[in-house]
Order: sequence, then structure tokens, then C-alpha cells
Amino acid sequence: MIPVTKPFLPPIEEYQAYLRDIWTRNWLTNNGPLVNELELKLKDYLQLNHLLFVTNGTIAIQIAIKALGLKGKIITTPFSYVATTTSIVWEGCEPLFVDVDPNTGNIDPSRIEAAITPDTSAILATHVYGNPCEVEAIDAIAKKRNLKVIYDGAHAFGVTFKGKSIFEYGDVSTCSFHATKLFHTVEGGSVSTKDPEVLKQMAYLRNFGHDGPEKFATLGINGKNSEFHAGMGLVNLKHVNRIMERREMLCKHYDDFLRNVKGTRPLIAAHVKYNYAYYPVIFESEELALKIFDELNRNWIYPRRYFYPTLETLSYLNNKEVKCVHAASMASRVLCLPLYDTLSKEEIDMICRIILRVQNN
Ligand SMILES: *Cc1c(COP(=O)(O)O)cnc(C)c1O
Repeated sequence: MIPVTKPFLPPIEEYQAYLRDIWTRNWLTNNGPLVNELELKLKDYLQLNHLLFVTNGTIAIQIAIKALGLKGKIITTPFSYVATTTSIVWEGCEPLFVDVDPNTGNIDPSRIEAAITPDTSAILATHVYGNPCEVEAIDAIAKKRNLKVIYDGAHAFGVTFKGKSIFEYGDVSTCSFHATKLFHTVEGGSVSTKDPEVLKQMAYLRNFGHDGPEKFATLGINGKNSEFHAGMGLVNLKHVNRIMERREMLCKHYDDFLRNVKGTRPLIAAHVKYNYAYYPVIFESEELALKIFDELNRNWIYPRRYFYPTLETLSYLNNKEVKCVHAASMASRVLCLPLYDTLSKEEIDMICRIILRVQNN
């Protein structure tokens, strides 16, 4: 069986060493030493001034929305994981969908200005597959129209643009450290910002609003993470460069084999150091994508329609018509092919042979 992804597991002894320390200290959660160490190491690795380790990548977005005091409508992308939209709705705001650039699947900045209403407070965009949005164009629009910007960087761990971490852009950037992501802490996530005031607010929000044991600065939630999750992060961080190199090699192997595939690949922007988080192919028709999907399944290979369907169509949003035609078209045709650390070149050969056989029939 070849799944679309397999969580990375380090040698168990490396994790056990952290477990022994946790047992000795008897300190399991609440801003413990491993959480602190992970935050320091992540800031160092990603070259960021501020980062907070939180429960998951969804609560990260919710904390960002709350910390920036967003109200009314938030311009967002229909082509993302459901958590991007649910966070907006959960925080009592309304998503305003703007179509994507068909070359990348990222929100199209040239369509943002026309969508802004008087009660729009922010833009929440996703770096789809880890491929950065047009951050300079988006930030320029936000500045001009006095909007906040949040980037859902769930896929973008380790990605840089013009030599800087992609998490340096916007007012807040979030990441997910879920087990299926490139770098993981089993469950986990982060918020990053350049603004020390926003950081302070997010730190309160993460910990029930506590400002000392008996004082509460603001409304908060439990967005903390544990020593066990931080320990997994500290182990995995030691492997992440090698993991990225291996994924790059595997992606290039797919590229070689699929040179004549009837489809396209998202265009990676200039000045980007990419992280090889996913291997999506946008086939030339939905019919072909589904034929390939079925044939791979028959061979115990499980690609994923990711993202499908578009978020505009979520039943609880009551959108009467789908307007984002590029997103809808991409979602109907895209398959993410298997990509994980222990995937072999031989397995990729097998996957590609099946794809080419189906398309050339
Ligand atoms: C995984 C993911 C999330 C949610 O992260 P969790 O850690 O699973 O809560 C949000 N947005 C995108 C784009 C994701 O892929």
C-alpha cells in the first residue's frame, strides 16, 4: 500500500531520551523547558524574531484573528484546507472568497482590491503547497487599504522568499506541525509576527489570558502545547534538512518521469527556496484525473484530491453560486501524488508508469 503521505518517525531512542528527562522533571505542560527550547531552536532555524508554539495550526489562525481584533469580512482563498475558512467563521467573521491564480493556486492579488467592502478588515491567504503567495503585492494592497494580513503557512515550513523566512511577511504567519506535515510535533503549530505588541497579545490568548497566576489581561483560550509534543519537535528538527533534501530528490524523480504528463505543475515563484512539501499534478481534465485516481487505487496507491472541493461550496456558508472558477477548475483536476521520507524511487516509477499508461490509452 502506498498512501499519499506517512508521518516521519525518528529513531525511537532519540525520543526516549526526551521522555526520560520529562519523567525526571515531572513537568508535562504549561510552558515547560522543552517548549521553550523548541521555540528558541525554531526561531534560530527559521531566522525569526518571534514565534509561539501552539496546540495546532487551526488554533494558530484563530489566535491570529483574535489578536489582530478582526471584525466583519475577511478576504480569503477558496483553494485551501477547510481550517482556513472555519477559523474565520469560528471567530465570528465572514469569509469573502477571491479566486486564485491558475498558475499557482494561490490567491490572485489582482482580484483583491475589487472585492474589498467597507467592512473588510483583513486578508487571510494560504501559501498553497508551501509555494509563497505574491506577498509583496498583497502587502502593498493591505497597506493602501488599511487591512491586516494573515498568512496560513501550514505548508510553508522552511520556505524563504528573497532570503527571508516566508513567515516574516504579513502581520501574522501561522504554521501547522501536524503529523502529516513536512516538520511535525504530532499535533502542533505556531504563530509568528514582527510586532512585539501582537506577540504579547498572542501569548496572553494562548494561555487563558493569564498575566500572572491571579491576573487576567484579556479573554483567552487554551492554545498551549505540551513537553511531549515539544520533545518530538526537537528530535524531528534535527532530521528536517535531510528530510527536505530527500523530498527534493524524490520530486525531481517524479519530474523526470512525468515530463510528458497531460497536466501542469504549480509554478514556483522567483527568489523562493522551496520545501518540497507536496507533489501536486493538475491534470488536463477532471475525467483524466479521476481515471488516474481509480487506476492508482486499484493498485493500492492512494493519491489525494487536495484541495477538493473548494471552500466556497461549504454547506454552512450558504453561497448561492460558485464564483471562483479558476479554483473550482484546479480543485477538480488536481491530485497530490504520494510523497514521504520512506517512499522509494522504485515506488515512484511504478506510480508514474500507471499514470502514463492511463493517459496514453
Ligand atoms: C493542515 C492545515 C491546517 C490546519 O493545521 P492543523 O495543525 O491540522 O490544525 C490549516 N491550513 C492548511 C492549509 C493546512 O494544510
